[in-house]
Amino acid sequence: MRPNAALALALLVILSPVAAWAAPDEAVLAAVKAQDGPYRETLKGLVDVDTGTGDVPGLAKVEAVLRSRLEAAGLAVESRAAPAFGGNTLIGTRSGTGTRKIMLLVHYDTVFATGDAAKRPYTERDSRAYGPGVADAKGGIAMILHLMAALETLRFDRYGTLTVVFNPDEERGSRGSRDEIARVAREQDVVLSFEPSFADAGVDAVTVATKGINYASLTVKGRASHAGGAPEAGRNAVVELAHQILQLQDLGDSGKGTSLHWTVVQGGTKPNIIPEAARAEGDMRYFVPGEYDRVLTQARRIVGSHRVPDTQVSFDLARGRPPLPQNPATQALGERARAIYGELGAPLALAEIGGGTDAGYAFQPDSPAKPALLESLGIVGGHYHSADEFAVLASITPRLYLATRLVMEVSQESGR
Ligand SMILES: [Zn+2]
Repeated sequence: MRPNAALALALLVILSPVAAWAAPDEAVLAAVKAQDGPYRETLKGLVDVDTGTGDVPGLAKVEAVLRSRLEAAGLAVESRAAPAFGGNTLIGTRSGTGTRKIMLLVHYDTVFATGDAAKRPYTERDSRAYGPGVADAKGGIAMILHLMAALETLRFDRYGTLTVVFNPDEERGSRGSRDEIARVAREQDVVLSFEPSFADAGVDAVTVATKGINYASLTVKGRASHAGGAPEAGRNAVVELAHQILQLQDLGDSGKGTSLHWTVVQGGTKPNIIPEAARAEGDMRYFVPGEYDRVLTQARRIVGSHRVPDTQVSFDLARGRPPLPQNPATQALGERARAIYGELGAPLALAEIGGGTDAGYAFQPDSPAKPALLESLGIVGGHYHSADEFAVLASITPRLYLATRLVMEVSQESGR
């Protein structure tokens, strides 16, 4: 999950009054309860190896563990190189007796440095587990491995195919794995993504929409001149940049959830020189795919109006992770998840978050109904990307129940 996903948890779509939920499926509940101890063993094994993005030896070590676990669970596994930062994307597939194609997705890299796992190995205290990446997203990896173990106990194989994708570079934007994620997702009916949920939000949630991110940049070229001797010969790029930033303040659209914030500025070289160059960087977030074009077009029109004559201004918008926009297929999966959680008497919110996840790459803008996507099926935790990152141990059973039942339910529905 990207750095500010947790902080930007916004717009909780609050629960309708809890209806009369069905009773829990006792066989599934027993099967997932039996996974609690093994889940924690798996999690410890994963957390105690450093897998910071680009830590190729650590990633290779965990990749080998994951490969053998998937193969032991009856999946045929292939590795695809993720070129940008190193490491491989693992893709495991297993066929069942049904028709529905289901993908389980999460990343195995973390934001932490090599050596952190030795300094802060997996520990459990006060009903929480701690360690680098314990929730984001190693708790999600363990969730996938142990929901498959629960399905095995239940002798359930009524899916068409079960495809597991573990990627090694999510924390750096999945540059080396995003095409692979999109390619595999395109073949699926359902994609379940296992980023963690947020204990800090006060209510357990799955995510039905994530924002996309784009990187704005604003460049001004002026003319240098001595600030004391010949200031009139200069063209002050910093003054023009300030003017442009003020003009570009209102490109957001809160009704659509679009924001653009200018976050970095640079300009000038010495106090006695009228600055020749200045630049600014901005952070754009959005839910609605068309907002990229709107912001780019409006910004380029706006920057045509200058305050300092003879300066050149350019505006650029580099695409980052795309959004998972609100859509009916995801909403329906979210409602289904709430009904399943309700069987345990537990409320579940459907959240929209300001951070982006790989669900954005799995989403197919040209066919929004397929695959149907749901995010944040991993463990409940908090303080992501900090030394205090934790996972809530009491969430293992309900979350495994949710994921296992969800796979079983979507396996058995008829195809669209
Ligand atoms: Zn993550």
